[in-house]
Amino acid sequence: MTTHAYRDTTLLINGEWRGSSDGATIPVLDPATGEEIGKVSKATRADLDAAVAAADAGFRVWSNVSAYERSKIMRRAADILRERREGIAVLMTREQGKPLGEAMGEIAAASDLIEWFAEEGRRTYGQVIPGRSPNVSQTAIKLPVGPAAAFTPWNFPINQVVRKLSGALAAGCSIIVKAPEETPASPAELIRAFVDAGVPAGVIGLVFGVPSEISEYLIAHPVIRKISFTGSTPIGKQLAALAGLHMKRATMELGGHAPAIVLEDADVEKAVKVLAFSKFRNAGQVCVSPTRFLVQEKVFDRFLDGFVEAARAVKIGNGLEDGVTMGPLANERRIPALEALINDAVERGGRLVTGGRRIGNKGNFFEATVLANVPTDARVMNEEPFGPLAIINPVASLDAAIEEANRLPFGLASYAFTSSIESAHALATRVEAGMTTINHNGLALPEVPFGGIKDSGYGNEGGSEAIEAYLVTKFVSVV
Ligand code: NAD
Repeated sequence: MTTHAYRDTTLLINGEWRGSSDGATIPVLDPATGEEIGKVSKATRADLDAAVAAADAGFRVWSNVSAYERSKIMRRAADILRERREGIAVLMTREQGKPLGEAMGEIAAASDLIEWFAEEGRRTYGQVIPGRSPNVSQTAIKLPVGPAAAFTPWNFPINQVVRKLSGALAAGCSIIVKAPEETPASPAELIRAFVDAGVPAGVIGLVFGVPSEISEYLIAHPVIRKISFTGSTPIGKQLAALAGLHMKRATMELGGHAPAIVLEDADVEKAVKVLAFSKFRNAGQVCVSPTRFLVQEKVFDRFLDGFVEAARAVKIGNGLEDGVTMGPLANERRIPALEALINDAVERGGRLVTGGRRIGNKGNFFEATVLANVPTDARVMNEEPFGPLAIINPVASLDAAIEEANRLPFGLASYAFTSSIESAHALATRVEAGMTTINHNGLALPEVPFGGIKDSGYGNEGGSEAIEAYLVTKFVSVV
């Protein structure tokens, strides 16, 4: 039986779950009701000092635990998380809004991801390089980079943390997580699974507070050797600049504006089904969400009609209720942001085909929305909507679709549907994006790279590259 009780969230510093040193808290709201459901502790400077000292000590402990032992502890954490899945999913839905089934899926995927990283951490091989004389032994060894700091957003409260946490722990790093103040309880439960699995004190720290104050403090701190941020491009650029100033390694997982190209030789019904699901999942608050649908003219009407039907079939409501397929937006501030983008698109000649409005005045519910024939100077064609909004535009050809796909500075995910192997090859190589998925949605598995190019950031949070991000290569020559 799952309980709907929510609980307050504290900091985790040096293995101790505790409130902030001055007792300050931040309220946590249920996006389905707008009501306060709990509080999260707000770290002070003294708390951050303590978290950094603990991460420093924790690094010395964890980096000396063998990869084999680290792997066992991580696998135990994955099992604990799986056992606690139902209760944690309720916390996630209450604080973030997504349907319970999506929350359950996110937690199952997190366990899967921890296990993959636990195994991969045992394979951080170096190299033996032939010496110039027979008695010289030359090796390149992989060492953990040092204590890391992670900054994660509210759209996937567990998934965004687990990628950074698993990469760091698998490599032998300690890590301080600045998790989202809007959705604190579920990531805290993720971290509790690691603590209960036997990760030593200080290896993982958890803090909340004023994001800019915490990031400025941690990025500049000499103990912190690596940062990883997921969030918007403007904030990512600020933090990357700060990381550069302090010569810190950085992974930047930023915004996107994914093109979804549907060519005239595609299986249109399948494209509608896959893309509508991908669009409205998590109410469109997904960095890899398809946004600009570029549909070849011959199949444009068929695709648009099918997609609109799928949008109208989305069942919107409290994520705890059975049958709901889309919950509220996580933050009230996204409602005026979406309304402004839609109004601007319509003023510039775009067609609002379905949706476009807030639902009711309690909770952050917003209709599944489809705009069509939107001119490229409309704001929504250039800014990430981060909501349940699809733009469906006709394109004349494959080349025109690729040109439009590459017009924006973003380059995170891209989608395409075609039955032509030549077109698939052209899309795979010419669309400027960190990820291209063709004829299905195959993104974000633990074992595959996950990351962007251009303004969508740099570095990877999936596949073996994700562990490499927490390692340094050291050359050793012995005679
Ligand atoms: P925002 O830019 O204010 O914040 C995005 C995230 O960054 C939040 O989690 C926030 O706490 C954090 N943040 C903000 N300033 C920070 C700082 N100085 N140091 C460290 N962390 C900081 O935007 P928002 O209103 O929360 O979300 C809206 C936009 O953010 C969306 O339109 C989308 O582009 C982007 N976003 C992207 C992702 C993603 O998965 N890439 C996730 C959430 C939000």
